[in-house]
Amino acid sequence: GFKCGIVGLPNVGKSTLFNALTQTAAAQAANYPFCTIEPNVGEVSVPDERLQKIAAAAKSAAIIPTRLTFVDIAGLVRGASKGEGLGNKFLANIRECDAIAYVLRCFVDDDVTHVEGRVDPLADADTIETELMLADLESLERRRPALEKKAKGADKEAKTAIQLIDIALKYVAEGKPARLALAEIPEADHRAFRNLQLLTAKPALYVCNVDEASAGTGNEYSKIVEDRFKPEGAEVVIISAKIESELAQLDEEERTLYLADLGLTEPGLNRLISAGYHLLDLITYFTAGPKETRAWTITKGTAAPAAAGVIHSDFEKGFIRAETIAYSDFVSLGGETGAKEAGKFRLEGKEYVVNDGDVLHFRFAN
Ligand code: GDP
Repeated sequence: GFKCGIVGLPNVGKSTLFNALTQTAAAQAANYPFCTIEPNVGEVSVPDERLQKIAAAAKSAAIIPTRLTFVDIAGLVRGASKGEGLGNKFLANIRECDAIAYVLRCFVDDDVTHVEGRVDPLADADTIETELMLADLESLERRRPALEKKAKGADKEAKTAIQLIDIALKYVAEGKPARLALAEIPEADHRAFRNLQLLTAKPALYVCNVDEASAGTGNEYSKIVEDRFKPEGAEVVIISAKIESELAQLDEEERTLYLADLGLTEPGLNRLISAGYHLLDLITYFTAGPKETRAWTITKGTAAPAAAGVIHSDFEKGFIRAETIAYSDFVSLGGETGAKEAGKFRLEGKEYVVNDGDVLHFRFAN
């Protein structure tokens, strides 16, 4: 599955947020499997209002959302890239994640010590990213000489790798995360760039942990964070970890009331989960029948056989056709029968690239 790491300085509210995420998931887990894999790894369901609509049209007995894994990565302090604190373990944990959520402290509370002695989310973001950039710098410089040798021969891949390394080095050496380099790298080389496994090349989102009163609106600190990172195209999520941890204790009815009290329409966690999902360039397709309507996760651009493989490897190996109905047709025409009558039912082959929202049924041979 896809993993989003939760990263930040100590005492910014990472664990509070992570616990709220997993408790909410556990509380909502009545009709689908939930698991906390390790103390710091949890799977959450991805809220998607299309599920209810498809299930209504398909008269499904159950709904199964797709899931996303969050990892609470503790141990970041200044000097982590040099092995300070839990440095190496910390970096290895981040390397395994597909995306990073940076939690930034945007609340003032004299009872909660700030490791750097002041509330300054931008400085905190810089402290974290600097450690990751130092780690990237070291790994780029370490790898370059061997590749240079290879590139002297006819090794085209090594040549490309060196070019990409040099572009990344340029950014990181200037104190810019490697992900910003993507803008000047041709689409065709993006995969090779990702294969460099740079920490600061991972897609990032910034989570502003604000005081309770600012959960709906944000505050002066979160405003500063937005002004800095939104122009880079980064996603900024405003959340109050404290409120989320309270919401996680409530049943659905109480939660709705409490949210209304706060002037909110949904828990901030939903926005965080959705943001994490979009960050990973993930899309959802659905399967729907009398038993259940279920959401499945694929990356954008996935062809039908590989999409089928997410359900079962046999579906991919024996793939014949994908019976396909677009989400809007499925819902507005009253499910499969109506879509067929309206000529909106398609049989797609191996080359078909699955669209977000497709309702699919795979034909396959064993
Ligand atoms: P971590 O070290 O980043 O995992 O931080 P924790 O989640 O353990 O939180 C550190 C302390 O800050 C705990 O005492 C939390 O109760 C407190 N805390 C977390 N979020 C908030 C918040 O939004 N407001 C306030 N006032 N305290 C918070």
